[in-house]
Amino acid sequence: MAHPEFFDPVETASREDLDRLQEGAIVAIAAHAYARAPLIRETWDAAGVRPSDIRSVGDFVAKVPIIDKDDVRSYRDRHDDPSGGMSASVPGETVSIGTTSGTTGDPTPVPNWYRSGSEEAYFRDHWHIGLRPGDYFSWMMFTFRGGHRRRYYSEHGVSEICFSIGPSEIPRFAEASKRWRPTSGAIFSNPMLLMLEAYFEKSGDDPVDVFKSYKGAIFGGEPLGNRLATLTRSWGLELFETTSLGDVAGATMCRMHDGFHAYEDLAFIETVDPVTREPLADGEVGELVVTTLNDRLTPLVRYGSGDLVQIKRGPCGCGRNHARYDLLGRATDQIIIEGRSILPREIMGLVEQHSETRAGLFQIIRTDREMDALKLRIGYDRARLEVSHEVLRDRLHGMIAEAVGVRLHVELVDEQDLLKLGPPHKIPRVTRQ
Ligand SMILES: [Zn+2]
Repeated sequence: MAHPEFFDPVETASREDLDRLQEGAIVAIAAHAYARAPLIRETWDAAGVRPSDIRSVGDFVAKVPIIDKDDVRSYRDRHDDPSGGMSASVPGETVSIGTTSGTTGDPTPVPNWYRSGSEEAYFRDHWHIGLRPGDYFSWMMFTFRGGHRRRYYSEHGVSEICFSIGPSEIPRFAEASKRWRPTSGAIFSNPMLLMLEAYFEKSGDDPVDVFKSYKGAIFGGEPLGNRLATLTRSWGLELFETTSLGDVAGATMCRMHDGFHAYEDLAFIETVDPVTREPLADGEVGELVVTTLNDRLTPLVRYGSGDLVQIKRGPCGCGRNHARYDLLGRATDQIIIEGRSILPREIMGLVEQHSETRAGLFQIIRTDREMDALKLRIGYDRARLEVSHEVLRDRLHGMIAEAVGVRLHVELVDEQDLLKLGPPHKIPRVTRQ
């Protein structure tokens, strides 16, 4: 039997249908969140907002206070509540407890409902890539700390092959890919691709053969740089970048690779000024604020994600009308030098162009939002160093200074020292010292 191109008919809903769906869902989730999530009730009471004030998307954006991860942590600490006042405690509906990755602080526990926005979004994304019932799927388990994904995939007739992330798993991954011929994979990452590159160089195994059956793989954790994008294309592998949609769902690029798709039946998205938190129009760069439309267990409502984004609301070439957005970086990572905004994503592309620094390991030293000069600490691979330390530093300095056009200081360190700083999939890109 032929399968439809899209997993869920809502993916091709018209703009008018999406607007209508959101209007009803916003009013319902707002009332539910106020009734069941103590942090929402506390925040709204302090702002003098009642659920009966919210009758439309317009009321919602004008009246509902924005919360963020710091509010969740603060509530957790004040009330000794592991869910940070965000668990609506619907009896019998909690499937498992996961945690966030802790990118911007300590990991936050997240109860998982039997329906999860992330799972629904990711299953649609894999279907878009080409995964169908009866197929295999490679699952690199490093980013998600949930616990219910396996059930959801098996319900749809997809068999997972699971791997942890680490050099010893790479030959096993290559072998299993050749044996089971998976259709898609997730979540591929910079460290995994670097390990694969080293494995192919050393073993002589053929990457085109390993990835022969893959119609694509979801890539996340950090931005995908040009070098690894080009390398993986030479393996015949198409990567689909993904990011967290403000802890409410995943947002993944489609085959057009023109921004992250936010499924608007799962979440309502908007942008606000990162400093004043006043609403901005679509197309303006601002902080992404997300509201779940279906997660009754963790009803995040007007949740400031800390991501700087630019929203595009027109139809996409893939056939969907759901919004897309470009992700520029974290609001707390942004630095302004001589009026110019600089974010780690831009520096990544410059650093990884050099053989000695191809792993793209660097840190921006950020002591303030506005600074006089860009200070970079860049990690190099000792084994690849063919010139002196000073020559490499001057080469990097010249190229980056020309590209960004601001005063620059570059410090070179052995990349092994930087790798000690973070979990294997990401080091802090911005540091105070
Ligand atoms: Zn699309």
